[in-house]
Formats: sequence, structure tokens, C-alpha cells
Amino acid sequence: MNRHRLSPLAVPLAVVLLSLSGACRPQAGGGPEAPPAQAPAWALAIHGGAGSLPDDLPAARREAYERSLAEALTLGQVILDEGGSALDAVEKVVTLLEDDPLFNAGRGAVFTADGRITFDASIMDGRDLSAGGVGFVEGVRHPITLARRVMQKTPHVLFVGRGAEAFAREQGLEFMPAEWFWTERRREQWERWKREHAGTGGKAAALAPPAAGFGTVGAVALDRAGHLAAATSTGGLTGKAWGRVGDSPIVGAGTYADDRFAAISCTGTGERFMVRAAAHEVVARMRHAGESLERAVHAVLDEELSPGDGGMIAVSSRGEIVLHFTTPSMLRGAADATGRFEVALR
Ligand code: ASP
Repeated sequence: MNRHRLSPLAVPLAVVLLSLSGACRPQAGGGPEAPPAQAPAWALAIHGGAGSLPDDLPAARREAYERSLAEALTLGQVILDEGGSALDAVEKVVTLLEDDPLFNAGRGAVFTADGRITFDASIMDGRDLSAGGVGFVEGVRHPITLARRVMQKTPHVLFVGRGAEAFAREQGLEFMPAEWFWTERRREQWERWKREHAGTGGKAAALAPPAAGFGTVGAVALDRAGHLAAATSTGGLTGKAWGRVGDSPIVGAGTYADDRFAAISCTGTGERFMVRAAAHEVVARMRHAGESLERAVHAVLDEELSPGDGGMIAVSSRGEIVLHFTTPSMLRGAADATGRFEVALR
């Protein structure tokens, strides 16, 4: 289920871009005499959320997801191929996805129990372990840029609510009216959520478990200078209670990057990832148990977390990319300097 497949849309795009950038080079053969595979000069992975796509997903919607993922991957590919930083790549890729109404981040994010749209986001720079996060912010067009400002312009790591919004204004970041973020699809999901929770009323409704979300976005990258970065942005879960914040803005839970090991972005039921410090746990397993990135990601998702909790994208300091999930689907993409360029949904 978790095997990647090449998007038909991505193929021509990749061919054009790779021939322009000259990034194509022969792949090492698979035989016993083949030289050891070289670490790619750069690598990038993205996700558009873990969840469950309906079996009868209309072809137009599937193509729209694939197109959006391919566009985001292409943006990051160009930045990294031209020698841009991993930090710039993950921020820019995430801002593009935040503007895309298909995803649960920025425009198109899910509704809270009381019909608002609030954002959580974080970003981390693997060079020096600096990090920034924002939780429960409203109206900010690009929460990931706000998270980066927290990281770079303050001595703090996490800003929430009105304080985060005030800081965004101070920084001159763009705000949009509430309706700009709304989409009919998310409003319908919220109406359904309310019907399912009818009668619980007031406090009980606010404490009811949120419905599974879908469409959180994230990016992880290794740049040509050998630096890693990770970014995650979300509207959280449909019907989340007033004040609820998930794993996405929490450094170590939803996002982590350390140049010596790996960069990770998570998606799924945030509470589960928080109590496991899931993103950091991947790095801890690599650091203290000597595990490979692949083994560490699988151990956290398959053994420490429970089936259906979510997924992760990760890239190691050697350019290995791991995309793994225990939900029926995870929108995702991967590209690197060897010519890899693929997007997949299931
Ligand atoms: N992890 C996010 C949260 O719990 C939701 C998601 O990734 O779908 O807020």
C-alpha cells in the first residue's frame, strides 16, 4: 500500500525540469559490482496529509491533488537545484500549499467546533537546532512564515493565539479575512461533524473527539550545502475544541531537524504524536540506537504508535528519503538530484 508510484503528470514536468537543470545522471546499477550509491546533492519530500481517501475519489480530484503536489515539489526542486537553502525550500513549498484550497493549511483549512479556522505551524533549521512555532492563530495567510519569524526574530520558540497574531502584525505579515480561508468542502465537513455530535451540546461538544483530519502539509529537505530543514502547517482536526493545539507547531512532536541525522514532518492524530515526541523519537533512535532512517521511521509509526495514527516524511543527512504511513493514504511526493520525482496518494 505504501509503495510510491510515478504520477503521469509528474513525468513530463520532471523531464523538462531535469533536462533544464542538468540534474540527470546515471543511476548506480543493482549488481554486486555496482559502486556504492552516492548521496544525492539535494533531496526533498513533501506531504499533504495522512488520512483516508474515498475509494470512489473522482478522477478530477485525484488529478488536482497530483497536480498540486507536483507543483509544490517542482518549486522546491528548483530552489534546491539552484543551490538554495533547505530552510527556504521547506518554507516556500509550504506557503504554496497553504494557499492551495485543496489542503488543510492556510486557505482550505478545517473548521473548529465553533466554526472558526485556526492554524498551527512550525519550522526547524537543522544547522543549529533553531526552531519556531505558532499555535491557534487566525487570519495569518502564511502561518509557516510566521513560525520562521518566531525562530529568527525572537529568542522564543512558540507563540500562540492573540500574542502570535500581534507579533505577525508587528512583522508586517499578510492577514486575510476569515471568508478567504473558507471552502465549501470544509464547511460541509464541519456541518457533518456537528450533526454527528448533535445533542452533546456546549462543553461536551467541545470535548468530543475531533474527526480525523486530512490535508495537513509538510516538507523536509537536504540542500547542496548538507543542511537539513523541516516545516509543517495545518488547520488541525475538524471540530477541534476551542484552544486545542496539535503536534504540528510542537518542535519534537510534529517537526524536527538535526543536520547530523534527519529532518522529519508528521501528519495524523496530533495527540498521539505529541505523547511520543514522534519526530524527535526518529532522531533519537538514529542517534542512540544507530538505526537507519528507514528503520527509525518504521519503528515509531509501526511499533510505538498505533495503526491508523498517521504518517511521516523524512530525509536523512545522506539524502535518503522515507515516506511511511499507517493510514489508508497519505498525499506525498519526493524528488532528489538523481532525477527522482514522484507523487502518490495511496
Ligand atoms: N497532526 C494534525 C493535528 O493533529 C492533523 C493532521 O496532520 O492531519 O493537528
